[in-house]
Amino acid sequence: MRIYLSKAIQIKGKDWKIACDSTNSNYYPVVFYSHAHSDHIPRKLPKTDIITSKITQLLMRNFTSNFEEPTYHESYSQNNVHFKQKSSGHIVGSTALVIESSEGKVIYTGDVSIRDKGFLEPFKPEKCDSLIIESTFGTPGYVFPEYDETIKQTKEQISYYIEKNIPVVLMGYALGKAQMLYHSFSELSETIVMHGANYKINSLLMDENVAGSIPAIAYVDAKETELLEKKHDWILYTPLKSGRDAFFSYLKKKFNAKLFAFSGWCISPNYKFRMAVDYGVPISDHADFKELIEICEKCDPNQIYTIYGDNVRFAAELRKLGFNAHPLSKQTLLDSYF
Ligand SMILES: [Zn+2]
Repeated sequence: MRIYLSKAIQIKGKDWKIACDSTNSNYYPVVFYSHAHSDHIPRKLPKTDIITSKITQLLMRNFTSNFEEPTYHESYSQNNVHFKQKSSGHIVGSTALVIESSEGKVIYTGDVSIRDKGFLEPFKPEKCDSLIIESTFGTPGYVFPEYDETIKQTKEQISYYIEKNIPVVLMGYALGKAQMLYHSFSELSETIVMHGANYKINSLLMDENVAGSIPAIAYVDAKETELLEKKHDWILYTPLKSGRDAFFSYLKKKFNAKLFAFSGWCISPNYKFRMAVDYGVPISDHADFKELIEICEKCDPNQIYTIYGDNVRFAAELRKLGFNAHPLSKQTLLDSYF
């Protein structure tokens, strides 16, 4: 079996081949899409066999255009090779791929998290021969504080303002981070408003009763009915942008709104100032460094390929701990030929 990078991450066995999270529209006989973040899917989907979850399929249909309708599978078998999905705990609909064949067992994590956030099933590591794992926070130092405690403290801060009739703006990526925020904080106010992409994606997920979606008012409607002027205890969800952005300056000036940014990068003390927000909350939909190591230990693979983020550094850190780990790069492709 060969695992290599050539325009896309590819896994090739004796008489089978699959591409993972290909962002180009090339034809591959079978493609696995782990989740619908834009750095994991192409703009145009080729007509081919696609393994993905029902929710990712729904999102991809909205985010991409098709040459012709592909054939979707939740699991797939070919020549005694079995492709199965399991939750990767990253965002709504995200899955990891488990491939079992006579050549061994491979797990491709895509983006991954093992934290229990209350509405998503976390990734559960299992023994495998080869592990292909993401490296977003694959640098020591990127270790987040305990999730439940962070949510509890943030709830207290938000409640403090809501009770004083000061509105809050909770900023996080509209797909993934936003659902964590809706799940954790929406009970704190009766007036939930969503801006642009947040409203659009939430409506799509609401239609399918996906956990993490909630009833909300579109910002354009709230503006038209002057709801934001009438009530002052609202929560507005928006994508994460700089607090210096004209829209956020307007919200601060007009409503004295407090800005909360949610990102794993908030563990860097400068982040809050760089983003010009009142609070920076370090929660992420990715595993932190300690959790990435925990996944590797529990999967106990013979070889690890690191992908996405600083994968060269992460592979080096894993080798220090005794793992047989290499960054998956063009170089890996050459290595496997020679
Ligand atoms: Zn992602």
